Amino acid sequence: MERRGFIQGMAALAAYGALSGRSAKAQSLDKKAIDDMQKNWKALLADGTPPVTTTPPLKLGKDEWRKRLSDIEYNVLRDEGTERAGTSPLNAEKRAGVFVCRGCDLPLFTSAMKYESGTGWPSFFTTIPGAFNKKTDYKLVLPRTEYHCVKCSGHHGHVFEDGPQPTRERWCNNGVALKFIPKNKA
Ligand SMILES: [Zn+2]
Repeated sequence: MERRGFIQGMAALAAYGALSGRSAKAQSLDKKAIDDMQKNWKALLADGTPPVTTTPPLKLGKDEWRKRLSDIEYNVLRDEGTERAGTSPLNAEKRAGVFVCRGCDLPLFTSAMKYESGTGWPSFFTTIPGAFNKKTDYKLVLPRTEYHCVKCSGHHGHVFEDGPQPTRERWCNNGVALKFIPKNKA
């Protein structure tokens, strides 16, 4: 387990080196490109992906969540924990596709919204519209804005204002809270 985490961490670090120029791509986008990305996000869904709606909300008891999620997934999604930086294989995920909620399968981000922030967590400069609710978190001295899946209310991460232009948003997401569905299976 430890060794696996270490190898994934190293893979993420290697990916960071290879991708550090990537935010430049995000910076060259304009507002219209972001609007299009949000409007047309379904173009990145894999064929045959079942439709997922935000209603009714998914409400499960603690035991049901325990069965559905691994310990670390439960810790992040249900107890607002944070995974160790650099541990998620999704840091290095570059294929076209959609990132959905590990708890309820709601689509949250597309690959077009991802950028390399260098933080060690999968990062996005915008989201699929309506995917999250925000809330202020006072766990550290300075208040931070955390965000939760609108369907299952699972905690995903925090959003900061130091992201690339034009949104300046950095949605810093725990990789264990996400599942990636590539558009093309091959
Ligand atoms: Zn969810």
